[in-house]
Amino acid sequence: MAQDAQRVAIVTGAARGIGAATARGLAADGMAVAVLDLDAATCAGTVDAITAAGGRAFAVGADVSQADQVEAAVGKVAAELGPPVVLVNNAGVIRDNLLFKMTENDWDTVLGVHLRGAFLMSRAAQKHMVDQRFGRIVNLSSSSALGNRGQVNYSAAKAGLQGFTKTLAIELGQFGITANAVAPGFIATDMTAATAERVGVSFDVFQKAAAERIPVRRIGQPSDVANTISFLVSDGAGFVSGQVIYVAGGPLC
Ligand code: NAP
Repeated sequence: MAQDAQRVAIVTGAARGIGAATARGLAADGMAVAVLDLDAATCAGTVDAITAAGGRAFAVGADVSQADQVEAAVGKVAAELGPPVVLVNNAGVIRDNLLFKMTENDWDTVLGVHLRGAFLMSRAAQKHMVDQRFGRIVNLSSSSALGNRGQVNYSAAKAGLQGFTKTLAIELGQFGITANAVAPGFIATDMTAATAERVGVSFDVFQKAAAERIPVRRIGQPSDVANTISFLVSDGAGFVSGQVIYVAGGPLC
C-alpha cells in the first residue's frame, strides 16, 4: 500500500480493558482506529481518549459472533476510515463453570464470541488486506489455552485460536499478511475482577496472590499486551507469522 496512507486498524472489544489499551496504542503508533464493541455508545471513552491525543478514531457497534453485523461493521469502517489492514480480534467473554455444571449455552456463547467471532471478523477484513497486499491480524489467545479448571469452554476457544492463527498465517502470507496470537496471563481488567468475584475473594487479594506465582512478581496491565500487539502489527514484524507470544511475566508450559 502507499507509504503515505494512514493505516486503518480495527480492534474488537475495545470499549474497555485490553482492547481499549490496544486501540489507544495503535492510534499513538499513527493508525486510524475503528473501536468496535457490542454497543457503539460504550466506545466513546476510548474514541475520546484517542482524539484528545490527536489521533483518529471511529466507534462501531457489532456483535462479532453475528455474520451480518460483522459484514456491516467492516463495510462501515472501510467507508469511514479506509480499508482496514490491521485487525485485532480481542472481544471476549467468560462463562466459567466446572464441566458437570456447564450449560450448552455457556459453551456456545464462549466459542461463539472468541472463535466464530475471530473467524467472521478475519474473513470480512482479509478482503481489504488482500487488495492492499498488506495486512496484520492478531488474535487474543490466553494462558488458559494450556488448560484451566472451570474454563473448559474458554480454554477450548483459546487453544482453537492458536490453530486458527497458524492456518491464517499459512493461507494469507503470500498476500503480505501476517497472523499471530498473543496469549496473556493474568491482566488486571474487568474480566479478572469478575473471576475474583466468582471465587469469592476481593480483587486486591486475588491480584496479590496471582503476583506471587508470576516470575516477575507482578500482575500484567492492559498496556503490557498492547505493547506486544504494537510490535506484531509493525512493519518491522513482517517476518514474524503464525506465532503465539505468551505475555505472562514468565514462561508457561
Ligand atoms: P473485558 O474487560 O471483559 O473486555 C472485553 C470486551 O469485549 C468488552 O468491552 C465486551 O463488551 C466486548 N465484547 C464481549 N462480547 C462481544 C461481542 N460478541 N462482540 C463485540 N464485543 C464484545 O476483557 P479483557 O480482560 O480486556 O480481555 C480482552 C481479551 O483478552 C479477551 O479475548 C480475553 O479472553 C483475553 N484475555 C484476557 C486476560 C486477562 O487476564 N484479562 C487473559 C488472557 C486473555 P461488553 O462490555 O458490552 O460485554
